[in-house]
Amino acid sequence: MFKVPSFDVPIIATPDVCVIGGGAAGVSAAVAAARLGMDVLLVEKYGFCGGAAVAGLSGTICGLHSSGERPEQIVFGFAGEFHDALKAAGGLGEPVRFGRTLFVPQDSFVWKETADRLLSSAGAKTLYHTSFLDVFSDESGTAHTVLLHCLEGVVAVQPRCVVDASGDANVIHRMRGDTSLGKDGVVQTPTMIFRMGNVKMDQVLRLDLGELHAKVEAAHNTGRYNLPRHHVYMHPMPNGREVLCNMTRITRPDGSVPLGIRSDDMSFAEVEGRAQARSYATFLKENIAGFESAYLVETGTQVGIRQSRSIVGKAKLTNDHVLAAGKAPGAASFSAWPIEDHGSGALKIIFFENQTYDIPFEALIPIKSANVLVAGRCMSADHEALASARVTAQCFGMGYAVGAACGLMLNERVHAQNLNGVDVADWMRHHGLKMAHER
Ligand SMILES: Cc1cc2nc3c(=O)[nH]c(=O)nc-3n(C[C@H](O)[C@H](O)[C@H](O)COP(=O)(O)OP(=O)(O)OC[C@H]3O[C@@H](n4cnc5c(N)ncnc54)[C@H](O)[C@@H]3O)c2cc1C
Repeated sequence: MFKVPSFDVPIIATPDVCVIGGGAAGVSAAVAAARLGMDVLLVEKYGFCGGAAVAGLSGTICGLHSSGERPEQIVFGFAGEFHDALKAAGGLGEPVRFGRTLFVPQDSFVWKETADRLLSSAGAKTLYHTSFLDVFSDESGTAHTVLLHCLEGVVAVQPRCVVDASGDANVIHRMRGDTSLGKDGVVQTPTMIFRMGNVKMDQVLRLDLGELHAKVEAAHNTGRYNLPRHHVYMHPMPNGREVLCNMTRITRPDGSVPLGIRSDDMSFAEVEGRAQARSYATFLKENIAGFESAYLVETGTQVGIRQSRSIVGKAKLTNDHVLAAGKAPGAASFSAWPIEDHGSGALKIIFFENQTYDIPFEALIPIKSANVLVAGRCMSADHEALASARVTAQCFGMGYAVGAACGLMLNERVHAQNLNGVDVADWMRHHGLKMAHER
């Protein structure tokens, strides 16, 4: 062990709210808190917002629509606002059928622009190229100092409350808070998403997906390509000229799933993800009508991580609750998105039929914390429940409710453990912040 010498670090800000992570959950939390007049600092390690949706190139907004014969948009609030802003800026494609529901293709660049605009117009300050390093808290569970690594070096921020929207529960982990990892330590598999350009879109749109899956499997079995996932997704980008390919499945040679919270695993996943992307692209060019002259445009900035740490919350989104269309007063959001579990052996999808479940606000309150809340995919949830609730529209809803709850904590001096969904919903209504079911 090498003991790091102690050193002084400058305190660069004392905001009301420090949001760690600029994915869907962090952006919505920061906007909500700033709209309530709070001084908000959003910290993001990349030079843009979007997280898995943009850096991971996930490519679509899932979770906005009902599930059944005739799906329609049912989730609004901040998710609806962001959707409408993307559409107005030309950053959305037409909704695409996915089993019993729909998703909406999005443009990554317009996503970044939209987040920048909403954050700055709400008055939130964004610090890009800055990584969360550590957090210091007292015995009462109050986080008082956040250590960041920005381009100038190590700095400190002393916020009144913190939102952990890092996807990986990094803040709660560093506070020695309770977290869990997937199902007995096994998480969903990562995917390296890629885009194909110069496709003949009219031919691609006529493809039978069942036939495509069979061709992928047959091609993989020849040994000529490395195509471990056969149930692949692809859809046109909003520009109408490129196809987004969600096809790869990354596991270690021993079948284990690399973790998004280990550099060695991530390094393996990035290299393997690029190799698989190339293999799928070659397969498409050589075997699928419409791809003959296509080329691989780009992969995501990083391999897509579906799941890592989940917090232990005051409440938990359980599998039973999701399957039974459970309701929760003052829910942070609600969803009809299927349980879409990308396991190491197979992809399992359970669609719902004309039913939705609520995401309890209390699943975003880490036990023992006095002034830290979480939002997004690091929420407290069972493995399968999270395989449904983690998508973008629901992350927007969770973040917006948590950002609003920061106002309740600070203005009304409510301890995090005493927050509840009903009070947060009342507070949002009172301050004109739309909840997920409100247009
Ligand atoms: C392969 C894949 C495909 C998907 N497909 C879809 C889809 O088609 N449609 C859909 O709606 N959803 C999809 N999802 C799910 C969805 O994109 C994510 O679950 C959702 O974006 C999670 O949002 P989040 O804000 O909780 O976390 P993230 O999007 O992971 O955001 C976390 C943010 O925190 C930042 N961060 C992390 N650590 C630090 C740190 N130490 N310091 C500073 N910043 C930090 C990250 O850079 C990131 O910007 C997909 C996910 C994956 C992985």
